[in-house]
Amino acid sequence: MTTTRFAPSPTGRLHVGNIRTALHNWMLARQAGGTFILRIDDTDAERSREHYVDAIRADLTWLGLTWDREERQSARLDRYQAAFGALQAAGRIYPCYESAQELDVKRKIQLSRGLPPTYDRAALKLTAEKRTAKEAEGIAPHWRFLLDHAEPIVWEDGIRGTQKFDAAQLSDPVIRRADGSWLYMMPSAVDDIDMGVTQVLRGEDHVSNTAVQIQIFTALFAAAFAAPESAAKMLPAFAHEALLVGREGKLSKRLGSLGCDAFRERGIEPEAIIAHLARLGTSQPVEPIADRSILVASFDLATFGRAPAKFDDEDLERLNAGIVHQLPFEAVANRLPEGMDASGWHAVRPNLAHLGEAADWWRLVTGPIQQPEFSDEDKAFLADAERALEWGDNPWGALTGALKDATGRKGRALFLPLRQALTGMDHGPDMGELLPLIGEAEARARLTRAAA
Ligand code: GLU
Repeated sequence: MTTTRFAPSPTGRLHVGNIRTALHNWMLARQAGGTFILRIDDTDAERSREHYVDAIRADLTWLGLTWDREERQSARLDRYQAAFGALQAAGRIYPCYESAQELDVKRKIQLSRGLPPTYDRAALKLTAEKRTAKEAEGIAPHWRFLLDHAEPIVWEDGIRGTQKFDAAQLSDPVIRRADGSWLYMMPSAVDDIDMGVTQVLRGEDHVSNTAVQIQIFTALFAAAFAAPESAAKMLPAFAHEALLVGREGKLSKRLGSLGCDAFRERGIEPEAIIAHLARLGTSQPVEPIADRSILVASFDLATFGRAPAKFDDEDLERLNAGIVHQLPFEAVANRLPEGMDASGWHAVRPNLAHLGEAADWWRLVTGPIQQPEFSDEDKAFLADAERALEWGDNPWGALTGALKDATGRKGRALFLPLRQALTGMDHGPDMGELLPLIGEAEARARLTRAAA
């Protein structure tokens, strides 16, 4: 049974990169008929805000990324305590007393000597007396997980292929702060075990976290950490996607703050965002696919590339227009201007880049319209048009057919004055669809007014 999770920290709004991760995890779960978990990573009480939790839920709902289960790290502190106890008993956790400044100085010295700035494990070598002395000084310890330098770290990444890390090249991660609060590293692994997560798909900025977490998983499995029955007793499959960059190929500040509100304001449909992000960075064509089930069915980690995925606003606009042109009336009815029915929607839909423009085109039907000044010749032609107008099944076809025969006009000379007189515009939706919506009386009135 496939279980995936999206694990945002409620310290800000979702941006397009988070949305992409959420979407891909949602698609993995939906494709397999599995479970998609929304996990709120709120162990950082200082920076977490309840209104961001609400905004995350609202954004996912607007995008149609429904979750099957919601979990909150702040409600699971007893589990982290249990895991901590098990790891401590197994000798995999040790207290440290360095201040942030001391660690910073160490790192600078290492770097100046051309050494990697990994933690030197000085605290591990402290004698019991020295520890007691530190605590007597009032220094509360923070806690590190002891990596096993002898255990090779290898995994088959769903996107990056075989990944190998040498634990000796990594710092023992701090997993708990001096005030007792938890850092991301261990709780995430505990949750993935407890919640039976089978696939962890996230950004490549987490690759080195995965290396560390694999050792945390293995240590928890080996220690007497009692996971619930439903828990996965094996490592999840890991996959890390290349980061999202702006069109210019760089990680941009703008992308980091671009989220659902901005898209909504610009009139971008959720389906356009989904269609864009579903295949961005893969070898599959990015197309205006309005039916998510097609995107879900074709989703395949093997098609993901290692190069950064380029997010392009122009592509998004193009997809949005393509999606709007396909949206059925029922899907948009409550967002259309007053009085616009299915045939009205059908008439204007091909002319829209954004749904909000439907109102502009609908004004051509409801009026009032602003007609241009016509030449005498065109006025005579429009007077003829009013006389020739017959209201049948296809009034536009009949009108233009009759006028063509009677006046010899064709092409632009035939169509443009009629369009201008009937809509006040030089271009717009198909007149064959628009004229019946304008209606006979109003059409006659507009032609008469134009001819005067
Ligand atoms: N809260 C973490 C983040 O937002 C979750 C990472 C993960 O998926 O494990 O980066």
